[in-house]
Amino acid sequence: MRRLLIDLLREKGIFDEAVLAAMNAMPRHFFLDKAFEEWAYEDKAFPIGNKQTISQPYTVAYQTILLEVNKRDKVLEVGTGSGYQSAILASLGARVFTIERQEILFHKAKKLLAGLGLGNVRCYFRDGYKGLAEFAPFDRIIVTAGAPEIPKLLLEQLKIGGLMVIPVGAGKVQQMMRITRVATTEFREETFDKFRFVPFLKGTRKAE
Ligand code: SAH
Repeated sequence: MRRLLIDLLREKGIFDEAVLAAMNAMPRHFFLDKAFEEWAYEDKAFPIGNKQTISQPYTVAYQTILLEVNKRDKVLEVGTGSGYQSAILASLGARVFTIERQEILFHKAKKLLAGLGLGNVRCYFRDGYKGLAEFAPFDRIIVTAGAPEIPKLLLEQLKIGGLMVIPVGAGKVQQMMRITRVATTEFREETFDKFRFVPFLKGTRKAE
């Protein structure tokens, strides 16, 4: 089933062999609730609880390719969710720092990633708008929730020469953007296709 998903991604125009290999090796069904397990290898987003979703495989591939990660890169991910995107980045050799604002999802993903032996992912229960200043600067930043605007604090945590991939838009639809920090105060923006993400919200939400 996983191989068929990879074939489908190729048909949809995903050609990066390293990203496809990482996705081919990752058991996506571990990241979904039991009720959705049998659909784990369809190219769809699914609910993971607390009104959140695991990103569609095509979207994960798309953002990962734009991010151009190198082995050992320090990568900040905002929106851990199920942990699937973090797992793909880690299997590409990145050192991943991932933040989630919902405590329940944070605990679940942390346990799952540790169980998969992905030691190069560190999970934090924080508000992603603030990033992780104590570990900055990052080579790469990836935001996996729809941002009404580009958060300033995240731009400040990007290395010079570093890239940030972020879906931007105040409504239901976001434009995928890539920002390169060319110099301390100089940023270059590129725009790509449109996507639909769950919203990038402020503050944290504790488990009840
Ligand atoms: N990368 C995830 C996608 C999850 S959906 C995956 O592979 O499954 C986006 C996630 O972003 C949700 O879990 C949501 O709770 C989280 N999120 C939204 N706003 C946030 C914020 N300010 N800080 C951290 N996480 C946030």
